[in-house]
Amino acid sequence: MMKNLCSEAPAEAAEIAQRVRAVRERMAEQSLRCGRDPAETALMAVTKTVPPERVNAAIAAGISLLGENRVQECCEKYQKYACNPDAIHFIGHLQTNKIRDIIGKIGMVESVDSLHLAHALQKELEKGGAPLPILLQVNIGGELSKSGFSPEETGEALAEIERTCPLLPVRGLMAIPPRTESDRWFAKMQALFEELRAGRPGFNTLSMGMSGDFEQAIRFGSTQVRIGSAIFGQRS
Ligand SMILES: *Cc1c(COP(=O)(O)O)cnc(C)c1O
Repeated sequence: MMKNLCSEAPAEAAEIAQRVRAVRERMAEQSLRCGRDPAETALMAVTKTVPPERVNAAIAAGISLLGENRVQECCEKYQKYACNPDAIHFIGHLQTNKIRDIIGKIGMVESVDSLHLAHALQKELEKGGAPLPILLQVNIGGELSKSGFSPEETGEALAEIERTCPLLPVRGLMAIPPRTESDRWFAKMQALFEELRAGRPGFNTLSMGMSGDFEQAIRFGSTQVRIGSAIFGQRS
């Protein structure tokens, strides 16, 4: 598994390492500005369209969490990554007919966006899989282009999954807030997370913030930012 670690051209690997450092520095500075401990917010590298060699350059630079959007791409790449599948989180829309392909190759699904998907995951895991931690994706801005639970239905969906899906421990929430009036949406996500977190010790992850808004997300309590282009450069 480690053999690909150094095959990326040294100059490109150095550039990726430099970008990882720069993102980490900005995260730490912003955390301190907000009176938060920098250790509270994890850095995920989002790998869509990025060749495994470049991903491994990020891993060599200290990245310990990867985000995959597409089942097929994940299946093609995961064995080439210099990390354990547990470190790979699925963050894209997951169709139920792809569940069988992805189980065993990832350590978490951050994008559980319907009860239908949760029940299908539970059913597949009952055939002998280990528990699979999940996050519930919240469509915080009610956008038609995005999937996820509405903020109003998230609490009920969480209770239903806790009741009926013992193999799907829910670790928290994930969101992609709208770009306009974003402070308002980030604040709403933070409030929903804090509300649902009360009395749930394992419910501790708020995954929000991307290359363009991760500092803002940290201000609103994000515990995990998902960064693609700021680490790997613009996607073609
Ligand atoms: C692509 C993607 C990201 C990262 O986006 P960047 O703007 O490149 O940082 C984060 N989360 C999800 C769900 C994505 O699809």
